[in-house]
Amino acid sequence: MSAVRPQAGVPTRLLLGSGPSIVPERVLEALAQPTIGHMDPAFAAIMGETIDLLREAFQTDNRATLPISGTGSAGMEALVANFVDPGDRVVCGVHGLFGERMADELARAGADVVRVEAQWGRAIDQERLIAAAADGLDAMVVVHGETSTGVAQPLDGLADACREQDALLLIDCVTSIGGHPLRIDEAGVDAAFAGTQKCLNCPPGLAPFTAGERALAKLERREQPGRSWYFDLSLVLGYWTPDENGGGGRSYHHTAPINMVYALREALRIAVGDEWLPSAWERHRRAHHALRDALGVLGCVRLAPDGEQLHPLLAVSPPEGVDEAAVRNALLLDHGIEISGGLGPLAGRLWRIGVMGAGARREPQQQLVGALCELLGAEPAEALAALDEGWRA
Ligand SMILES: *Cc1c(COP(=O)(O)O)cnc(C)c1O
Repeated sequence: MSAVRPQAGVPTRLLLGSGPSIVPERVLEALAQPTIGHMDPAFAAIMGETIDLLREAFQTDNRATLPISGTGSAGMEALVANFVDPGDRVVCGVHGLFGERMADELARAGADVVRVEAQWGRAIDQERLIAAAADGLDAMVVVHGETSTGVAQPLDGLADACREQDALLLIDCVTSIGGHPLRIDEAGVDAAFAGTQKCLNCPPGLAPFTAGERALAKLERREQPGRSWYFDLSLVLGYWTPDENGGGGRSYHHTAPINMVYALREALRIAVGDEWLPSAWERHRRAHHALRDALGVLGCVRLAPDGEQLHPLLAVSPPEGVDEAAVRNALLLDHGIEISGGLGPLAGRLWRIGVMGAGARREPQQQLVGALCELLGAEPAEALAALDEGWRA
């Protein structure tokens, strides 16, 4: 029985799509705590703990680590507004919808965008990104976890290629944070943004963000203030972390979404406090493979080839001859289970299933496989056995 009182019009759902993901009771309870003032010292302490947990989730020591107020896309805006100047030559990896979106954002910011593309559903060969960097660049941006296709982009060699040219390596890790191996400092990433509603199992509304010294130095070299006031990191840091970033008391910038910060802190306590992060990554890996095997029995084929898969998002083709949208709708309306469809060129050709945080567990996957079997008229025993086998492996 839920501790949260139900409200009319809000159905019970099992969220196994591309995000938002399952929000645990503990996080809902945190969200429902009384709102306090954002300059209250008690809130400052909550901010401090949230930052420490975020550093753990990103695997970074960066002093400039905090949640930007806004969804994951606000993190993208903050990244570009702070670290890309008009006229900058920016190499942008594009292998899915989120790479496309990034290229669009960069062009709007006045960057000279050099696209390095791969087919949707494949990773980009790093050698091609490195070759593009050799012609000179100010920044490289890649999407680490491409949620539109379920592909993980390897980062090996990219930081060195950027450093040789005194350029920044910037990444979108919205879907990978907490669910797919990523160590910001070890990978040499200069700045990154994430989201709360994928593997962190928090409602949408904040964008975890981190920036290292090389990125901050570029910001400090700026002669003119950047084009965005709201996302100006120098102002935001004075609100979130004045002690580590210039000293003095906290100064009002905007009003942090206080209850969302409570929720994120609790979600991070679960994601990186209760479970050691490398074990969480391993659990996501097993969950991904178990579900892939179970759906394979039903005739679903994963889009990403072996070795390029993003563990938190399993993108598969539906079985031959199945009306994918009809099954997806029936899953939602008859079984209360949400999965996502394909985007862009893959619309109508994919199911995108989240394997995120609490969704990367056997029980919700059993529910999904059972419901899918019912809708497809398939005997569930074999698919469920494949799922169990995958979890035992
Ligand atoms: C979900 C997502 C975003 C956008 O986040 P919003 O919270 O929807 O603004 C950006 N990049 C990737 C890879 C995502 O999966």
